[in-house]
Amino acid sequence: MAMTHSSTTLLVVGGGPGGYVAAIRAGQLGIPTVLVEGADLGGTCLNIGCIPSKALIHAADAFHQATSYAGESPLGIRTGTPTIAIARTVAWKDAIVGRLTGGVGALLKKNGVRVVNGWARILDGKTVEVDVGGEPLRIRCEHLLLATGSQPVELTSMPFGGNVVSSTEVLAPSTLPDHLVVVGAGYIGLELGIAYRKLGARVTIVESAGRALLAYDEELVKPVAASLKRLGIAVHLEASVLGLAGQADKRAGAMHRPRHIPPALRTRSLARPRSRTSRALLVGQSRLRCPPGSTSSSDCLLPALPVLRLPMPPRPVCSSPASSPT
Ligand SMILES: Cc1cc2nc3c(=O)[nH]c(=O)nc-3n(C[C@H](O)[C@H](O)[C@H](O)COP(=O)(O)OP(=O)(O)OC[C@H]3O[C@@H](n4cnc5c(N)ncnc54)[C@H](O)[C@@H]3O)c2cc1C
Repeated sequence: MAMTHSSTTLLVVGGGPGGYVAAIRAGQLGIPTVLVEGADLGGTCLNIGCIPSKALIHAADAFHQATSYAGESPLGIRTGTPTIAIARTVAWKDAIVGRLTGGVGALLKKNGVRVVNGWARILDGKTVEVDVGGEPLRIRCEHLLLATGSQPVELTSMPFGGNVVSSTEVLAPSTLPDHLVVVGAGYIGLELGIAYRKLGARVTIVESAGRALLAYDEELVKPVAASLKRLGIAVHLEASVLGLAGQADKRAGAMHRPRHIPPALRTRSLARPRSRTSRALLVGQSRLRCPPGSTSSSDCLLPALPVLRLPMPPRPVCSSPASSPT
């Protein structure tokens, strides 16, 4: 297949908030700029992150408030028991995302940035190859800006698939689970867990640290912890999920509390780099299973649940396009 060649002053790889803002500014300064995006303009934030999560949270809040009026309300308001058509909620959220990503495309165009749709593969510091709908395009540049963001990472003991899902899937549910287990009490896990609770799911959060939102000041986290309690969300601190029950490895699914196990075993619990922006969630329909007579949850099993995965390492850009995220 014939290779097409192109050149530019600035080449930006990645059309998320990092990449598109830089490209727009460069365009405003009159710098010839090309932006390569393999998926949708707007990146994680606009498509599968900040914006859709806040839209879902808004819908969950509205549903929760409507639910609170179904019984006796101190305001004297009484409604019937509300229901939610989640497919319609997701469509509403998608429309918001569509408007915003369309706006990013318009801004890039207005400022003279050429957008190339395809996965970039870096050949050297000044050359990138892009597969544009099966046609190879080689772009030479004076300056290369990598803004390739992050993507969900599989936990080795709980790879994606079946009930194990990432935040991306949790933002676009086709049905609501009876029970969501969130692994990791960072802000993404908490906000999605709280939203699902307000939508009516039972929610359990498992966190290996001694408290939620470890990156934030303890005083600020207290009201959040109180809110979790008020909403009836079960929180297991100093506990790490090892896998799903029902897998070949019978230990899979165990939830260890590190303080109950010898130091040598502690590394077996799920260590998650703090620099990553998100962690795993589990969505499921059953309860924790504990052996008869057990007095702590350290030997309990997580049932085989749908799982939402959230760890976000940098995306590789030096691999072949075939191995790029889809
Ligand atoms: C559920 C969730 C909720 C969040 N909520 C918030 C929030 O409320 N507030 C907040 O500030 N942040 C939030 N974040 C984090 C926020 O989304 C990220 O910080 C932000 O998107 C990072 O921007 P970025 O441009 O660096 O990367 P990204 O937004 O990830 O964009 C990178 C882009 O590069 C593209 N790309 C990657 N490799 C290639 C390649 N080889 N070729 C071509 N294109 C490529 C990707 O397709 C992607 O579009 C949230 C994240 C998640 C997952």
